[in-house]
Amino acid sequence: MNALAATSRNFKRAARLLALDSKLERSLLIPFREIKVECTIPKDDGTLASYVGFRVQHDNARGPMKGGIRYHPEVDPDEVNALAQLMTWKTAVANIPYGGAKGGIGCDPRSLSISELERLTRVFTQKIHDLIGVHIDVPAPDMGTNPQTMAWILDEYSKFHGYSPAIVTGKPVDLGGSLGRDAATGRGVLFATEALLAEYGKSISDQRFVIQGFGNVGSWAAELIHEMGGKIVAVSDISGAIKNSKGLDIPALMKHTKTNGGVKGFEAADSVDPKTLLLEDCDVLIPAALGGVLNRENASEVKAKFIIEAANHPTDPEADEILYKKGVIVLPDIYANSGGVTVSYFEWVQNIQGFMWDEEKVNAELKKYMTSSFQHLKEMCKTHDCDLRMGAFTLGVNRVARATLLRGWEA
Ligand code: GLU
Repeated sequence: MNALAATSRNFKRAARLLALDSKLERSLLIPFREIKVECTIPKDDGTLASYVGFRVQHDNARGPMKGGIRYHPEVDPDEVNALAQLMTWKTAVANIPYGGAKGGIGCDPRSLSISELERLTRVFTQKIHDLIGVHIDVPAPDMGTNPQTMAWILDEYSKFHGYSPAIVTGKPVDLGGSLGRDAATGRGVLFATEALLAEYGKSISDQRFVIQGFGNVGSWAAELIHEMGGKIVAVSDISGAIKNSKGLDIPALMKHTKTNGGVKGFEAADSVDPKTLLLEDCDVLIPAALGGVLNRENASEVKAKFIIEAANHPTDPEADEILYKKGVIVLPDIYANSGGVTVSYFEWVQNIQGFMWDEEKVNAELKKYMTSSFQHLKEMCKTHDCDLRMGAFTLGVNRVARATLLRGWEA
């Protein structure tokens, strides 16, 4: 099922549980604004290359719109739309004063040189600079982008509007980025996993984990879980998949990926077929890569008891149903990976205050937010007698609906 159809289906189920007025439901679903721009750059060899860039601003009832910018060949309007919508519910679940947005450029960042990436980012920023803003829409990194990308956006935006560090989050610390932002999504995944496992009388150190994706989110999650005594038995990235039933040596694997560009070839492990990684024997499965990876083709073969959605929309609604019937507990993306945007909020607050927090404060605040969202989410599960996905959706949608109604429609 396509990402937009899947996300909208979950939203509609939540709207029904909340008995939302059908007109309000419709207005919450339609994006506030969809931007599509042509970005042409000269390549290093002098030839021209054209790309399509998107920014979908989904909703701003609760505050400035917020969300990442993705550079990936599969970026398309429906996908960006779905991801923007997920950001609206995610910021509401996290209880931070933002709406939702997402952007992207359909390109393969690995096939572009650094200077080509810089030119592409600057052209994209020129095309959208008058539609974003510190109190309008604040971009951040996502797949294929990083702090350097944010630094270019900051610089290009500042040429038009004056120096504005709060226009992006996830920027380098030297330019006003927050300590702890780099690890934040992975650290949030750790806190979310701890909160869920505690419900079942379990802890990180007695569980075996499989992680799909070893980029920013997956590798930080792996490192922090490993530090807490969790056993990571298999991981994958674009280079391949590896496993070791005794537990992978994560610090050694981090070193290996730095020198070899991926997990493939790591000595203290066997290689596995990346297609079957999600079906490996484990207690906790953490998809931390692309969307739609758990679907009706493979869901019935999942061995894990818990799935923590570190990626955005990794589980198709059809897979959700299969997993629910199997008794697999799925901790949804809009809660499980909200640590990144939560620390983005701390970064934005620090920029506006002109004051820098130490890393301990960032991490302690993040833990507070993740723990309290989990309690709110569970209360919604009780109120609506539903699973964790609908608990998170009803929590997020209800907060956005309330803000929308309070602000009203009077012209
Ligand atoms: N791209 C991240 C996400 O999907 C972070 C967004 C942000 O920090 O604004 O949640």
